[in-house]
Formats: sequence, structure tokens, C-alpha cells
Amino acid sequence: MKYIVVLADGMADNPISEWDNKTPLMVAKKPVMDSLCKRGQAGLLKSIPDGMHPGSEIANMNILGLDPREYFPGRGVLEAAALNVPSEPNELVFRCNLVTIEGGKLVNHSGGHISNEEAGELIKALNNELTSEGVKFHQGVSYRNLMMMENGSEEIECKPPHDYPGEPFEGLLPSGKAGGSETVDRLQSLIKKSIEILDKHPVNKRRREQGLAAANAIWPWSPGKAGGFPSFKERWGIKSGAVISAVDLIHGIGGMAGLESIHVEGATGLFDTNYEGKAAAAVEALKKVDFVFLHVEAADEAGHEGDKDLKKKVVEDFDQRLLKPLLEGLNQLDEEVAIALLPDHPTPCELRTHTSDPVPFFIVKPGLEADGVDSFDEESVKNGAMGTLSDGGVLEKLFS
Ligand SMILES: [Zn+2]
Repeated sequence: MKYIVVLADGMADNPISEWDNKTPLMVAKKPVMDSLCKRGQAGLLKSIPDGMHPGSEIANMNILGLDPREYFPGRGVLEAAALNVPSEPNELVFRCNLVTIEGGKLVNHSGGHISNEEAGELIKALNNELTSEGVKFHQGVSYRNLMMMENGSEEIECKPPHDYPGEPFEGLLPSGKAGGSETVDRLQSLIKKSIEILDKHPVNKRRREQGLAAANAIWPWSPGKAGGFPSFKERWGIKSGAVISAVDLIHGIGGMAGLESIHVEGATGLFDTNYEGKAAAAVEALKKVDFVFLHVEAADEAGHEGDKDLKKKVVEDFDQRLLKPLLEGLNQLDEEVAIALLPDHPTPCELRTHTSDPVPFFIVKPGLEADGVDSFDEESVKNGAMGTLSDGGVLEKLFS
């Protein structure tokens, strides 16, 4: 038996009043998804542990059975793994945003969505001026970069910059628990020095002249150290597996858990992604490995845009351009394939951010009797035979 999890990032939603309290999953035409759902058993999964932030990294780790309460290593560590940037055991790894600070306020978390090329110049300047302070910077994508700090303490609290747009930055600076005060001092000083270095940098002068936001400060957050991450094989006894995604974080989680990373040309993480290419890559991968985690980001982005019509279209594209060729390909394989389909978390259009509500799922596998749920959406699955599961419950059922 082979196994595939099709993960529709952020596809679950809340009832939309203009649509008679229906969700995009209820309104969209998705014959392939619905007929697949009808062949299996459905339910709800509580994918976000109580008290944890409903981030994709938390949800996806939890769905894969890598309990984030125990093993979440910080966003920086996961992104470093995805970018193949090594870190030393004594290094504290941070996600390091390039942000905009003006008039004492954290204006945005993205440095005005600075380009890769501009970010590269700024990262170079930071490395020239600040390596003597025991830190080094690695370029990622746009404002999403990394900072490694020698001998930093994990007893600190760093605020995610996207949660505080427009607030005075002094009140948001890293703070300490017992034992972390030296690291806190270093971080606060680094942020202030970064403003001196970046604010007058030619890249930012140019951006201001063009009426763009200056990426004039660093914002290190989500610190952690590598090591101690569980392997997927040990967790589930599945010999080999692969991750297909356009998102670095998902590759980071998979890579640290020993799953192979497959990158598909034209997979953008957006509405124009190469759905067909991802489906084909999943079928190819299942000829070699026993498990594939096929992650598709587009629905989440539509939710963040707050665009219900776009989200409906994403569901329909997902159905016709991803699921349809995927199932056709799986039918050609020599071995039978067990399938699970689910979102990681809801990204409701009205809220434009993630929530912790349970997500709908279904499982289709040989020998599993159909439960009669013939529409895959937030309400219908409540009549499913699987009931409400939590954490790695879907994989447990898939592999059992
Ligand atoms: Zn999201």
C-alpha cells in the first residue's frame, strides 16, 4: 500500500453572509473532490493544539504527527533547514524580517515587500557591520531572512512583527525570562544598530525616492536551536516519503523529519501555481516512495486576500487541475493508494487570517467502508464516521 496526504492550505472557511451562510467549499463546483469523499469516511480534525498559534508550521507538524508542543524548533530553524543553511549546536537561529520603522513605529513587517535583490544588498551590509557582535545573516526570500546568534539563550520572548502593524516598536522589542537577559540586551542593541546601518543605506534612499517603504530595521523572532527533531519513519514506521510544496517552511519540516523534498517547476504557492505539474510529480514520487505529502498553498493566499470569489475559483481549480489528474495517475499505479485530503487550518475570507477551528477531512482507502458523506465541506463532514480527531489522528487512521 502507498499513501498520499493532499493538504489544501487554508481551504476551510467560515459561513459567508452574502452566500446565504455557505462557505467556498459549499459553493464551489468540485465533482472530483465530492465523489472521492463519497468513497471514504469523513470527519473533523482539531489540528491546532490548545494555546498554540494557528500557524501553518504548527498545523502541518501536528498533522504529520510531529507534536509541535514537544518538537517545534522555531521558524528560523525550519526555514534554515529548507534553505539548506547549516547551523551550529551553540547557535540560536531566528527568522529575521526586514521591517519598516518610521516615527518610532513598526510600520510594516515586510520592508514594503522588498525585492530579493535589494534584500541581498542589505543583508550584505548587516554582515559587514554586525558579524563582530557574534551574529550572521542569511538571505532567504524578500523580507524573510535568517539570523544566527552565537551562544544565545532561548529564555527570551520575541514578538512576531506581522501581529503589531503601526505600534510603537520600543514596546515590542524582545524581552526576557529568567536567564535570558544578556541575550535580550544583545538583541535590542542589534535592532537599534540595524536602524543606523540600514536607514541611510543607498537601497533605502532609492526606495524612499520611489515612494516605497524603507526596509530599515531587522526584526529577529521565533528563535530556536536545531536538533532533537523526530523522524517521520520512526514516528510511523513508513519506510520512505517525500514532500511536494512551494513553501519553504513545509520543506523545512519535511527535511528535518527525513522526508525527501520535491520542487516542481512553476509551483508558486499562488493562484497561478502549476497544479498539473504537482499532481504529476506526486504520481511519479509514489512509484519510488511509500508516502507523499502534497501541499497546495493557493487557498490560504485567497483567504488572506479576503477574496471569496477567488477562493471559490481556487477550490474549483484544485478539483479539476490537481485532483482529477492526480486520481487518474494514481489509478495507473501497480499498488493501491490510500488517500487523505484536508486543510491544515481555516483561513476565513472575512478574517483574512488563520483560525484554530477544526478542519474537515476524509480518508479513502481499500477496505474502509464508505460513510455516505457526499460533499466535502465544513458542515457535511460532521455526519462522517470518523467523528472529531485531533493532532496526528488523520495519519493514524490512514496508516492503520
Ligand atoms: Zn496563511
